Amino acid sequence: MKITIRKPPWLKVSLPSGEGFARVRELIRSQDLHTVCHSARCPNLGECWGNSTATFMILGDVCTRNCTFCAVDGGVPLAFDQNEPDRVANSVKLLELKYAVITSVTRDDLSDGGAEHFAATVRAIRKTSPHCRIELLIPDFQGDAEALQRVIEAAPDVLGHNLETAPSLYSKVRPQADYRRSLEVLGMIAEAGLRAKTGLMLGLGETQTEIYNVMRDALDAGCRLMTLGQYLQPTGKHYPVARYVHPDEFKEYARSGEEMGFDHIEAGPLVRSSYKAHEQVEGII
Ligand code: SF4
Repeated sequence: MKITIRKPPWLKVSLPSGEGFARVRELIRSQDLHTVCHSARCPNLGECWGNSTATFMILGDVCTRNCTFCAVDGGVPLAFDQNEPDRVANSVKLLELKYAVITSVTRDDLSDGGAEHFAATVRAIRKTSPHCRIELLIPDFQGDAEALQRVIEAAPDVLGHNLETAPSLYSKVRPQADYRRSLEVLGMIAEAGLRAKTGLMLGLGETQTEIYNVMRDALDAGCRLMTLGQYLQPTGKHYPVARYVHPDEFKEYARSGEEMGFDHIEAGPLVRSSYKAHEQVEGII
């Protein structure tokens, strides 16, 4: 018999509505863009779009991997649109964003994993919105150092790569990823002098010791920014939630993590790497 754990009250969110929400929805539609907010069924969509912000997802909406936690469709992606960086830049300008977050699906089918497209997006935003800070959340580019270097050279203000979970769970939830490889990505970012950031989902079955071990590994790699949020099962076919982490436990991770050496840990049930991303780095960058 399948056991479903009832969602606790702290995960209740309000339904999307309002002028800001309608404006962002219309802009995304008219610019023919994708957002991770929508594709990953983010619980904060109503709040973020209502505040006229969104996280753009470039390189299409079909991912070449099939992580069991993720709502983004897997399969064979179409060719991507070379003009997408300009449309993202245009949207950043129209939304008057002071802090833009860009991510992508994983494109293992491309020779550079889409690295040049990320770099082109940074350049396009810099051209049209020179004062806008830019955060990228990138895939691992299969460990291709040259591809990663291309993104590093574009010099985003924050460069993130999510470890997502403890290494013991990788084979179940990120079967095509490699924990050590992801740490190396963070290490290369930090070594290049950029702000490295990572994120973890909690409640997949990891132990508290494992959470602290991942924090230590990220710190050792030179990463000083982290987000911790509750994993939510997008559909019945996805990996099940093992437990709902209490908000006080999240607070404790943030407190201990900052004591361990992180500049900032944003932790809470509804925290996602891009959730209020500008506030996460206030006074840091
Ligand atoms: S938290 Fe990030 S992904 Fe979720 S709605 Fe907000 S901007 Fe989008």
